[in-house]
Amino acid sequence: MAPSKFPVIEIFGPTVQGEGMVIGQKTMFVRMAGCDYRCSWCDSAFTWDGSGKAEIRMLSAAEIAAELDSIAGDTYSHVTVSGGNPALLPHLNELIELLHGSGIGVALETQGSIWQDWFLHIDELTLSPKPPSSGMKTDWDVLDTIVGKLSAQERNFSLKVVVFDETDLQYAISTHQRYNGVPFYVQAGNEDVKEQDTSLLLQALLSKYMWLVEQVMASAELTRIRVLPQLHAWLWGNKRGF
Ligand code: SF4
Repeated sequence: MAPSKFPVIEIFGPTVQGEGMVIGQKTMFVRMAGCDYRCSWCDSAFTWDGSGKAEIRMLSAAEIAAELDSIAGDTYSHVTVSGGNPALLPHLNELIELLHGSGIGVALETQGSIWQDWFLHIDELTLSPKPPSSGMKTDWDVLDTIVGKLSAQERNFSLKVVVFDETDLQYAISTHQRYNGVPFYVQAGNEDVKEQDTSLLLQALLSKYMWLVEQVMASAELTRIRVLPQLHAWLWGNKRGF
């Protein structure tokens, strides 16, 4: 059978993972085009809004691995697959198996709207259901199924909710309560994904992070929880490729 081709829009790194359960991890990024959501504050809308269409290349797992090697040589041992929503790709197991065969760890983030059997082979899987400020609606039945299957197999996964306001915070609390026992992260949202002045953006991100820290510290419902910034936005602002 011919190898599957994947809609790759960016391959870059090594860099540090700026979000979620592997924050700080040295990693390469493979960003896939396409998303079933349209979040109002999406910081990677070029993966689905048509603006990045000319950059999409259909690559096989072997071609992706070869490009990772040609960019980074022997300086990496971890790859993050992002998007878009990479869970739209039913044959992604081909890439995961190839990377694992070379001793490379694989992390992946998805909003948790679609199950794929290859979720069970991801080393660090982040489920990031989107709060009300995104304008999207969570399908709790699907998310229940995903969390149930991962928990049953004792997989290394976590939940992460990006928080912009009080309503999002309530959503984070109810998500945490629904999946009590799953490692849980909240992350301060980036309200201006178009700002190009990195020092102005950093000020805004710091104050949003401070607000979120204060909310969580005062909360009786959010106790076993980690509060994260978007580290890469602190370092590189809204620039792509970091
Ligand atoms: Fe953007 Fe992620 Fe929302 Fe898709 S799920 S629109 S990639 S923020």
